[in-house]
Amino acid sequence: MTAFFHRRDGALAVEQVPLARIAEQFGTPTYVYSRAALTAAYQAYAAACAGHRARVQYAMKANSNLAVLQVFAQLGAGFDIVSGGELQRVLAVGADPRKVVFSGVGKSEAEMELALAHDVLCFNVESIPELDRLNAVAGRVGKRARVSLRINPDVDARTHPYISTGLKGNKFGIAFDDVLPTYRAAAALPHLEITGIDCHIGSQITEVSPYLEALDKVLDVVEALEREGIVLSHIDVGGGLGITYDDETPPDITGFARTLLERVAQRGHGHREVLFEPGRSLVGNAGVLLTRVEFLKPGEAKNFCIVDAAMNDLARPAMYEAFHRIEPVVPPVGSNPGEAVTYDVVGPVCESGDWLGRDRALAVAPGDLLAVMSAGAYGFVMSSNYNTRPRAAEVMVDGDAVHLVRARERVEDLFRDEKLLPR
Ligand SMILES: *Cc1c(COP(=O)(O)O)cnc(C)c1O
Repeated sequence: MTAFFHRRDGALAVEQVPLARIAEQFGTPTYVYSRAALTAAYQAYAAACAGHRARVQYAMKANSNLAVLQVFAQLGAGFDIVSGGELQRVLAVGADPRKVVFSGVGKSEAEMELALAHDVLCFNVESIPELDRLNAVAGRVGKRARVSLRINPDVDARTHPYISTGLKGNKFGIAFDDVLPTYRAAAALPHLEITGIDCHIGSQITEVSPYLEALDKVLDVVEALEREGIVLSHIDVGGGLGITYDDETPPDITGFARTLLERVAQRGHGHREVLFEPGRSLVGNAGVLLTRVEFLKPGEAKNFCIVDAAMNDLARPAMYEAFHRIEPVVPPVGSNPGEAVTYDVVGPVCESGDWLGRDRALAVAPGDLLAVMSAGAYGFVMSSNYNTRPRAAEVMVDGDAVHLVRARERVEDLFRDEKLLPR
């Protein structure tokens, strides 16, 4: 638990607001974010960047609620986007699109046009066909597109295979041996301006060493390009820094960012701008998913604690077998740990994969509230309407204030755009 999610008289609170009060007011399941926690995580990066040519591009796919974006925009963040839709979110909060980098392997022509119209900082390009498409679109609209190539440095980030992106055989990035020829091809295209290089080796990385390994390879490329007269003004080191879900011990944000910036300076590249693209480490531990126990179902092999949140609300356990701590919001009066029973905490969705936690010792009764911790990243944004379940409400706590930042969906909205066949 962090300083922003803590117990007051035994009851779990976010900043100055008891979670039980939020459940009463907004119902469950509900995502609850802490503005102070978002701010603290951003400031931890900003502290390392001070005195360097370095900046933070929040990778908004981790949590793209407009209020979350607004907090980061006000703190001075740029954004890393992966779709035209995410660019529209930048515009919707009044943030500066010229501080946006556009990542992703499959940008459409329409997305490229939109991004060019708003003068984004840079396109992170991942293939020659994408360079050709961007060159054609930029030519058509009479602009030069700023381009950075995402290289695949072939390093092992030692994380889950589904969230590892920097190894050979992965769909992301330009294979290391093809990097120089691809830069040369880009340099020959008239409507592109080469400005940078980037890599992103994976997610939930808990060691610095894979980053340093990748950074050294990136800097080797920068130097080789310079010898050919291709000068890069920025180096984007990607995102991926891990957080503590259970007992992981990732490097602290400021120390991590300083280590990379120092390596850049040591190798004589301090004059180039360094971009960080964090997602999870800015938001993951700034949010919880609040849920209520519906039933307890004892069984011969397993006991089940059935709650009102499910895999459609939080997909990470079903998708990656991810671990989230699950905490009782208000421990029952007079309970002691000896009374805890081991449960699988599961949702109401009709899938065996619908679970939020396995083998958890909990002293709970039907009607009790539970908090699924560390749910601020890849939580709500990956939620779906599977089983015609309206998506959860989202709430932002700021000191003693509680703001509803996304209303709970209503069932009638879920099939509003569906049509019956003619009779
Ligand atoms: C997802 C992503 C990030 C953010 O990753 P986190 O693990 O959430 O920090 C950064 N850059 C790119 C290109 C991404 O796809």
